[in-house]
Amino acid sequence: MSNRRTFIKKAGLLTAISVLPACNLISTNKKKKLGVALVGLGYYSRDLLAPALQLTEHCELKGIVTGSPEKIPVWRQKYGIDEKNVYNYENMHQISNNDDIDIVYIVLPNALHKKYTIIGANAGKHVWCEKPMAMNVLECQQMIEACAKNKVQLTIGYRMQHEPVTQQIIKWRNSKPYGSIKSLYTEAGFYSNPNDLTNWRLHKELGGGAMFDMGVYALNAARYVTGMEPISVSARQYSDRKSIFIADETTTFDLQFPEGISASCKTTFGANINTLKVDCEKGWYQLSPMQSYTGVQGTTSDGKILSPFKGNQQAKQMDDNSLAIMRKTKPLVPGEEGMKDIKVVEAIFKSAANNSQRITL
Ligand code: NAD
Repeated sequence: MSNRRTFIKKAGLLTAISVLPACNLISTNKKKKLGVALVGLGYYSRDLLAPALQLTEHCELKGIVTGSPEKIPVWRQKYGIDEKNVYNYENMHQISNNDDIDIVYIVLPNALHKKYTIIGANAGKHVWCEKPMAMNVLECQQMIEACAKNKVQLTIGYRMQHEPVTQQIIKWRNSKPYGSIKSLYTEAGFYSNPNDLTNWRLHKELGGGAMFDMGVYALNAARYVTGMEPISVSARQYSDRKSIFIADETTTFDLQFPEGISASCKTTFGANINTLKVDCEKGWYQLSPMQSYTGVQGTTSDGKILSPFKGNQQAKQMDDNSLAIMRKTKPLVPGEEGMKDIKVVEAIFKSAANNSQRITL
């Protein structure tokens, strides 16, 4: 058993501890957290994930992969990262020889998710990949296949599915306290006025545009609230500020689900919107905000209040995902779940390009 990851995978952590001599137990205990390498050190890694990795119980920040040499001393000093755990995009595959790293977390522009997921999987590391999973269904399939072939987990960074208030309303799709769902409305977006027109978020070929960036929150919510897959979609995309937003500034889409359930959804870079409202036979419930990093909270037609989660969303997400690796259980949001959204996103783009024609899924 040459490295810790293989060891954990083959024997299970508990078995490993029980067969080790006492002198090894101390070092095993020290290593009880899985090592995470962040791939891409932009906004989300810097401001949310790295701080959250200081709070996690089951994983810790051990490595970085970056194309910006000037970031290396800052990150190494701030987080005590060993020199041997620092990689760039050209030598990232060499992470296969590094037992400190169990997981690579892909936090890059969307168009790069496939490439670096496959490099991570082929290096024998579990992969966490940010949303949206990839540019199209074919890329998603290739990512899933690479992870399956290498017997590593693939998990998509849909943090809301780990968030306790959201999890409460996900449960209501089965317990139906307000009767069956009739329709829902969900919207996710923010006002953006970027100075840097080269930013990848503005360019469709890099995975930019409101639908890819924020629309997947609305789409994923419609799917997790109902627990169903949509059967058709009609969509419209437009930009009011065409000189800035070459990719969609705004996308509206209308999903039809089985049992006559309809979902009206919106995403935009032109306004701060952040709501989910579910209308049922005997009442309603809503979350507002529905996808912020903190403060997600709910109200219902009979006056119930769903109070915000007090913990750190990203820390909970990464701990949930680490436990799935340690216990060899299915992660909450596997690659297949990310791919289901991308299948609908492809249909949304197709409908919008064809005069909002309704597309059967
Ligand atoms: P960002 O632009 O701030 O960072 C992207 C990083 O990728 C930068 O460090 C940049 O240097 C690097 N990079 C490498 N190759 C690049 C290339 N060819 N072009 C541009 N950048 C390149 O972006 P971000 O906000 O950190 O988003 C990264 C990912 O995280 C995206 O997939 C995004 O959807 C996701 N994200 C998720 C959440 C969430 O709440 N789950 C929030 C924000 C971002």
